[in-house]
Amino acid sequence: MGTLFLVSTPIGNLGDISGRAAKVLSEVTAILAEDNRVSRTLLAHCGINRASETYHDFNKERVTPRLIERLKAGETMAIITDAGTPGIADPAFNLVRAAIAAGITVTPVPGPAAFCAALVASGLPTDRFVFENFLPHKSGARRRVLESYKNEHRTVILYETPHRIVKVLEEMDEIFGDILVVIGRELTKVYEEFLRGSPKELLAHFKIKPPRGEMVVLFNQRIRDK
Ligand code: SAM
Repeated sequence: MGTLFLVSTPIGNLGDISGRAAKVLSEVTAILAEDNRVSRTLLAHCGINRASETYHDFNKERVTPRLIERLKAGETMAIITDAGTPGIADPAFNLVRAAIAAGITVTPVPGPAAFCAALVASGLPTDRFVFENFLPHKSGARRRVLESYKNEHRTVILYETPHRIVKVLEEMDEIFGDILVVIGRELTKVYEEFLRGSPKELLAHFKIKPPRGEMVVLFNQRIRDK
């Protein structure tokens, strides 16, 4: 039986790759990645000159059985994603389930994850938190999820995109009113920034400076001061 390594990779700054992650990537018999173009840059940075195989949302059902056969035959594989930790808002989960069911060893090689980086620097309570991932695309379903957090005392963490953030902040303003929202943007990259304010204040900010880049949105209804 081989081993499946879940290798965390940088969320922007290539310097965040760990020594262990680079070592595992150079030793495994196969590397599975969401997008070969993205993984090529990282692998080149680690001095690894080989192609990865793709494992993404659109082929995961089809390729999983064959990958499990190869792992059973003794191959060692690393799965990486475009950014951060495999399994957090990306397709690794499928393979992990199938590997565990087949009795294959699944080993994490931990490192960056955007939600964790954003949480610890947000200034919001870190002792108890909820990770909601991406909200639903449809506005009705999205509202229902947001409304379910009305009496939530823990810090809530969402992944968001620049083209939807204005809509979400408008909905948050209607549902929660004057709460403190923190947005961690472009974390570990050159233009990293943390924005703090009520949904209305953040909407005003984005009117002047249109939203760009990758972002994590956090709020905690017990904390009101910036
Ligand atoms: N697996 C990744 C992780 O461990 O965080 C998450 C992948 S998910 C498909 C991509 C989302 O993560 C982005 O839309 C954004 O919300 C968040 N994200 C990833 N990198 C980020 C960064 N450098 N700064 C802020 N948010 C980031």
